Amino acid sequence: MAKAKYAIGVDFGGTKVLGAVVDLARGKVVGEYKVASSAYDSGEALMDRIYEVVDGALAAADVKITDCAGIGVGIAGQVDAERGLLIGTANLSRSVVDLPMGENIQKRYGVPAAIRNDVQIAAKGESKFGAGKKCDDFICVFIGTGIGGAIVRKGEILPGFSGNAGEIGHTTVDANGRICGCGGRGHLEAYASRTAMTKVILGELRRGRKSIVTDLIPGLDPTDNAAAIKSGVMKKAVKAGDAVVMETVVDAGKYIGMGLATVVNFVNPQRIVLGGGVIDSVDLLFETAEAWTRKEALPYAGQMVEIVKAELGDYSGVVGAAVIASEVA
Ligand SMILES: [Zn+2]
Repeated sequence: MAKAKYAIGVDFGGTKVLGAVVDLARGKVVGEYKVASSAYDSGEALMDRIYEVVDGALAAADVKITDCAGIGVGIAGQVDAERGLLIGTANLSRSVVDLPMGENIQKRYGVPAAIRNDVQIAAKGESKFGAGKKCDDFICVFIGTGIGGAIVRKGEILPGFSGNAGEIGHTTVDANGRICGCGGRGHLEAYASRTAMTKVILGELRRGRKSIVTDLIPGLDPTDNAAAIKSGVMKKAVKAGDAVVMETVVDAGKYIGMGLATVVNFVNPQRIVLGGGVIDSVDLLFETAEAWTRKEALPYAGQMVEIVKAELGDYSGVVGAAVIASEVA
């Protein structure tokens, strides 16, 4: 069989599921389909979401499944890549474990399937077509609702013994610090994710400080624990010189720098690729993180490391998932 021109990538996140048909030679999305995500009480419901975006992306691209090398899925959660199993994810009730995603996809579409962690697919996308191109040793860090990371060594993603390598969001930046979502203490994610920054800003508003954020988000209730402050709002607030948001961003950037400096000393990568909506939108966060990384790392390693922004934006995950699917095919 001739080598397929396309593969399908699915990026299964906590708030949205994006499916895309990707042209493998150029790393370009030729058709995409997106749906909102939520919590799922069964494996079938979760699989249905995947089928929906795969079918939608194929229709949008006007491509047949027989022209695709395979389907790759990246999901925020623990994955057994070897067996194509989703072991567990925050989006799924705890009663559903060991969901055979790979097998289900293969049965339905008759093409090979690959299941990975969401950060690993994004790192693969950046490695092949984005900011990690032509660089064999780099780390990827994505900042969003949480903080995820991946280590690329000699062009391959390092899975680690139990598949957890690269979890920089759960490195300790303050031994007596805030409790993290994972239950640990003082982890980077509890200080510098967009969720963590949102909590700090809402806390300042509750204490009576004034911020442009309340103008930018009409009806914002600072006591609402589910309120989210999106990257675009933070960008506008920083541009307007808003003190509350700028302090929060500078503080978060410092913690990111502490975490990255640890990684620079320990792994000594050639390059650090920083991604995620808030890095993309808020230059102050990127610049502060870069400055603290160089300041805190060992002098030579800190001076030599290249620190760049991810290049594929929202597409790094789907492109990477498609590439991985084509490699297992
Ligand atoms: Zn943690």
